[in-house]
Amino acid sequence: MSDRIDLSGFADPWLVGYDAHGIQELITASNRPLAMLGASGTITRFDSYAASSAPVSVFAGGGRGVELVDGHDAAIARCRLLEAHYAEQTFGGPLSTAAVPLDRLDQAASLRWLRQRLELLADAARPPGHGYLAAYTRKSDQCADCGGYQATHESQRRDARGERVCLRCHAMTQRGRLASERSGEEIQSLLELAPHGQYLAALSLDGNNLGAFFEDLRTLDDTRRASGALKQVFSDAHAAASRAIGSRHVSLATGGDDIRLFLPQSLVLRYLDALIPELERTAAALAARPPFRGRFDRFGVGVGVVLADAHLPAKRLMEYAHDLEQSAKRHCRTNGPRSAIDFAVLTAGDASRIEPSLRRRGRKPLGFGETWEDALRDAAALARVPSSQRSLLFDEPADDCKEFGNQWRYQVARHAEWRAWYDATGREWRDAEAVVRDRPRAHHLDLLHFLAPDPRAAASTTAR
Ligand SMILES: [Zn+2]
Repeated sequence: MSDRIDLSGFADPWLVGYDAHGIQELITASNRPLAMLGASGTITRFDSYAASSAPVSVFAGGGRGVELVDGHDAAIARCRLLEAHYAEQTFGGPLSTAAVPLDRLDQAASLRWLRQRLELLADAARPPGHGYLAAYTRKSDQCADCGGYQATHESQRRDARGERVCLRCHAMTQRGRLASERSGEEIQSLLELAPHGQYLAALSLDGNNLGAFFEDLRTLDDTRRASGALKQVFSDAHAAASRAIGSRHVSLATGGDDIRLFLPQSLVLRYLDALIPELERTAAALAARPPFRGRFDRFGVGVGVVLADAHLPAKRLMEYAHDLEQSAKRHCRTNGPRSAIDFAVLTAGDASRIEPSLRRRGRKPLGFGETWEDALRDAAALARVPSSQRSLLFDEPADDCKEFGNQWRYQVARHAEWRAWYDATGREWRDAEAVVRDRPRAHHLDLLHFLAPDPRAAASTTAR
């Protein structure tokens, strides 16, 4: 793709934009990694179809795109074609499209108008499956994979003989299998990512302030350059981090400027340790060049991570990870770190209700860099305190609770391990107030799960 967009051949240039809805739901509809791979590949293929069939493509990726078309009628026809093609490829997936005339002298105003029209349409998008997938009428006809639609095909999984799945799950599994055969990569089941009773990690990551960044761009050329460069930043950083964990993940990549994946709990830190510096490094290199100059040097990301039993629905885990990512991004906006992480650990008792309200009282997301590293250091020191003594910390009583304060001081006075924790983390246990105020918190307990190879062995003795 050339860097400059040539408008000279257009008598009446129109911008056409598209925006796919419910991509996350589509990808995680089935719990099967093969079907997830098939679904994310479907989005990537649709973007390349759009980019290669448009008269001029400004950008296309992650189920979003902007193109240039000559004339009003051609623009409307293009919208209908994109909608139909997307619906066919995703079995009724909703795609919003909009068209606006391009003001050659004020391209930013036209881009803004297009964005506003697409935003308005997003709320009115029809439900997925419309016209392609029938609702099941009897429980026995329910798709065994997604549970959403009428089953019409035999399941192809070896461990599910006799089960039946809907048209979409059937097709996505086939596409995923073809993709994995082509890449020569063996796709693991989510259960294989979490052997020996370990947790599965769902990770969701997105760049901060990218919306505002794109709104600031003045021309189609800048928009094309920026979107191409951003995609590259994310895919390069992910590729480097993926190598660091030996590709042990199921990635729901759609070629956009975000990252979603499932990986073993024991590899989360290694993945993030490789990813975040690489993202910040490549973004800083970009910041030296237009159109990024002066606006991209503090680029950062919000990350959400959920650790949970691998038998829980993948869709719910990813939704929760996404909620936590949003919370981390809010933290960056209001408190100022470049990048931040918010995380949760769902233990057996929480499994039936995956709700953001489960997050422990008063817990804030952690900024990457110092605060995150401090918290990991504090958690590592906590690992040396016998697990039977940690149970007092789970309920997060208020700091001014007298009864708890007394109980806590007694614990610390009685056990050398606790005093060692205060010493190791540079905290003061001799001061009656500081010992309560600066005690280990529930998030340190949660962070233990990121550190230990098999924390359940350690946690199982702890009453919760
Ligand atoms: Zn299905």
